[in-house]
Amino acid sequence: MKTKKGRSASRNGHGDPVPVAPHRDEPGRTPDALEPLVREMLKLVGEDPGREGLRRTPLRVAKAWRELTAGYDADIDEIINDALFTVDYNEMVLVKDITFYSQCEHHLLPFFGKAHVAYIPDGKVVGLSKIPRLVEVFSRRLQLQERLTSQIANTLQDKLHPLGVAVVIEARHLCMEMRGAQSLLSPTVTSKMLGCFQKDSRTREEFLTLVHAR
Ligand code: ZN
Repeated sequence: MKTKKGRSASRNGHGDPVPVAPHRDEPGRTPDALEPLVREMLKLVGEDPGREGLRRTPLRVAKAWRELTAGYDADIDEIINDALFTVDYNEMVLVKDITFYSQCEHHLLPFFGKAHVAYIPDGKVVGLSKIPRLVEVFSRRLQLQERLTSQIANTLQDKLHPLGVAVVIEARHLCMEMRGAQSLLSPTVTSKMLGCFQKDSRTREEFLTLVHAR
């Protein structure tokens, strides 16, 4: 299996900068504004945008893109803040096999797979359903798998100040598979380990064992 390891130290708790999202109201961010561009693209690839099957395609593509990039509009604080709880629990919390779909920013083609997210609380936990929600918010942006991995880990680190965070993502990239650069059976794996997951190999091993247990 070909793997790409992205384990790296957090820089002051912050990783790669989060791209600033243009606001929906700005010109160019509405589905309407996307439609003529899609029509133009259809022409440029040699198609006839007027033929029956393609007539409503620009509208559908524009709507789909709005959905697939909805993560730019999400407010992380709004999602997380009302689901923070004080607890006396300092064992590992693991949510594994979170299915996600994202788009690579280099080719605008899908990459998708599973995310496994764990943390060890230090007095504070977040509602369990918020973890898949975080994965979804960051997935619905143009992404690199490495940055997606870091953003999930760094957000939990910043919001919960836990003893550690671990994120592993396994994904298939259609930009590689459709162009023949990678076989169907070799997912790309990235990981980000913070705090005790980075410092303590036993904690890390426990996490990886739980992730791989079926
Ligand atoms: Zn790509």
